Amino acid sequence: MSSQDIVARSDRHLMQTYLRAPVAFVRGEGAHLWDAEGKEYLDLFACLAVTNLGHAPKAIAEAIQAQTAKLFHVSNLHYCEPQAKLAEMLCANSFADRVFLCNSGAEANEAAIKLARRWGHANGGKRFEVVTALGSFHGRTLATLTATGQEKVRVGFHPLPEGFRYVPYDDLAALDRALTDTTAAVLLEPVLGEGGVVVPKPDYLAGVRKLCDERGILLMLDEIQVGMGRTGTLFAYEQAGIVPDVVTLAKALASGIPIGACLAKSHVADVFGAGAHGSTFGGNAVAAAAAVATLETMLAPDFLPGVRKRAAHFRAGLDRIAAKSPKVTAVRGMGFIQGMQLTEPGAPIVAACLAKGVLLNATADTVLRFLPPLVITEDDIDRALAVVEEVLCS
Ligand SMILES: *Cc1c(COP(=O)(O)O)cnc(C)c1O
Repeated sequence: MSSQDIVARSDRHLMQTYLRAPVAFVRGEGAHLWDAEGKEYLDLFACLAVTNLGHAPKAIAEAIQAQTAKLFHVSNLHYCEPQAKLAEMLCANSFADRVFLCNSGAEANEAAIKLARRWGHANGGKRFEVVTALGSFHGRTLATLTATGQEKVRVGFHPLPEGFRYVPYDDLAALDRALTDTTAAVLLEPVLGEGGVVVPKPDYLAGVRKLCDERGILLMLDEIQVGMGRTGTLFAYEQAGIVPDVVTLAKALASGIPIGACLAKSHVADVFGAGAHGSTFGGNAVAAAAAVATLETMLAPDFLPGVRKRAAHFRAGLDRIAAKSPKVTAVRGMGFIQGMQLTEPGAPIVAACLAKGVLLNATADTVLRFLPPLVITEDDIDRALAVVEEVLCS
């Protein structure tokens, strides 16, 4: 099928829930993608922080093939080896004691919200409310769009579930005022992704941890976008020097195969007994095998140091463009999640870069968001940024 054909047939029959650019990809390798006509693109988007290991990474493809040759799926009324390995690896390399496996980010946050409610019931019965940040994004199910601190995702979906409250991000005094004896948990992104790549002050998360400890409230972090090496460490919370109670993952966890995970300390996880939560496909054998291979790749000794080095090179390139372009007022981010604050809407810039073969994204209207595959080479970074510079400086 030609790109035009794919676009036309999709638009005729899919619900029109996305604003898509008319490009259809058929093949990828590393940070390179090809459309149906053979045009090559350089990727600074990684399918929205999903393909962190690049497109069709060999080690993951082999793990998937090996698993599909044996078994596609095992019900959660029985056991399978990829799930056992994945849960063990996630716990061994994080703060967590236990993991609930599901299929997406929204489901991981839904699990976290249910966990917070159950934990509140099990600990005195008064605490149920979840406090989240204005500008946050936590998903599109009814509970997670209510947790999301943006009115636009809620339009037309009332009545909404109760028990959510919003505070300005990166404002400890406001959080302090919002916490009550009915608060069960604070749910935050370590960096606001959809909200415009907003990095909080260095001591913010430690301050949140302290407030939660003083009040007996859970600290839950949504690392769906910034986890899995994106910020230069396996998880972003590591750089804040804190231990959360709950962390949610999805996006890059299995390199593009659908999966989600809700990680928790045992004092929280233990409130989920048999029948408290579940998912038919949660921890599916193929998805879990892909996640195990993804973690094995990222935990190799040279991987994360290499990510940090290339991310510093990338950031230096963005800073150079910002110094030259009158359209850029600030660059902010951590590792390979970087944002450029523009003086004008980002969508036309994104479209101009796409026409020149570079994929990136705009969010919060005037922020260019860069989420390259973590494996992108310095040469590809330089080539892609030359295009971004051409567009931003013309
Ligand atoms: C993408 C995202 C989600 C939702 O994940 P889905 O897999 O689309 O449900 C939740 N939180 C954050 C921070 C995200 O970036």
